[in-house]
Amino acid sequence: MTTQDILDIKSLLATPKKIVVIPHKNPDGDAIGSTLGLLHYLLKLNHDAVIVAPNDYPEFLKWLPKEDSILKYDTQTVESENIINHADIIFTLDFNALHRTGNMEPVLERSDAIKIMIDHHQQPDNYAKYMFSDVSMSSTCEMVYHFLTKLEALEVVDKDIATCLYVGIMTDTGSFRFRSTTSTTHRIIADLIDKGADNTQIHNNVFDTNSFNRMQLLGCALSNLKVLPEYNTAYITLSQDELQQLDYKKGDTEGFVNYALSLNKTVLAAIFIEDKKQGIIKISLRSKGDFSVNEMSRAHFEGGGHTNAAGGKSTTSLEATVEKFISILPTYSKALNNE
Ligand code: 5GP
Ligand code: MN
Repeated sequence: MTTQDILDIKSLLATPKKIVVIPHKNPDGDAIGSTLGLLHYLLKLNHDAVIVAPNDYPEFLKWLPKEDSILKYDTQTVESENIINHADIIFTLDFNALHRTGNMEPVLERSDAIKIMIDHHQQPDNYAKYMFSDVSMSSTCEMVYHFLTKLEALEVVDKDIATCLYVGIMTDTGSFRFRSTTSTTHRIIADLIDKGADNTQIHNNVFDTNSFNRMQLLGCALSNLKVLPEYNTAYITLSQDELQQLDYKKGDTEGFVNYALSLNKTVLAAIFIEDKKQGIIKISLRSKGDFSVNEMSRAHFEGGGHTNAAGGKSTTSLEATVEKFISILPTYSKALNNE
């Protein structure tokens, strides 16, 4: 994003506009935190702004300020399309390609609104007029903070904005421990606390609202954990039956893959979750060090993400997907044993 881009965006935002803010499909803490943080800012500037999410998000985010104003495209399609079709500006946050919005892709492609991307995923597509893309960033929430800094708008950051941005930085950094966490990340977090983010309350709201069933599901996931010591790899499977038996709710499996990664000597961790309704196996990959799960996912599982955290999918059975995963490991043997 150049100085001229910032000047352009400043002048665009100088008068009230119709603005839509969009996160990726299956939005996570960073997607919802960043879109809400930006929304609060835009509303303070008297824009007519609304978030349209491709679909629903986990319960542990359903306390954030103004989250109940978020439109969901899959269940509120007509209203969502109407709003997108009349937008002057569309912000796309926390994703790098329009197909990451699922069924919203053609609607966004057709729109002639000015598109502004704020994102930290690798290999971004070139669909936005203004691209604020930085793969070194911990989170899109951290980027929204930098974006507001560039707009000289930090004094506008209040408790609501600070709370939303704190949540996304916290969830995308695994509570400030992943490699992408820098001293700047911590300085931003410190400033967000100064501006009203209640860190203890936020951690409680996001992490300490487990249902009994979710804890049982974690038990099931851990008992399904398999280790492949020759590849420093660990993986978890969850079948549709197991999910159903424990009354699975969206977001329940969030973070499970990190237990596999936390196992002694593990460089690569995966979780395979069966979704019969969509006819796919949802895959989450995590790694330590320089081993790129972004590349692995792009090459084999129709996905992508970051070096140490990526997602993908497979349209074969759970068993066949795991077999494929195991079958490709020999090609990565050297890298997996070098970390
Ligand atoms: P998760 O495993 O938590 O779903 O996703 C890990 C990271 O990879 C997140 O940053 C997420 O946005 C990204 N990601 C997940 N699924 C996909 C996908 O299908 N394509 C791409 N490009 N990125 C993904
Ligand atoms: Mn993110």
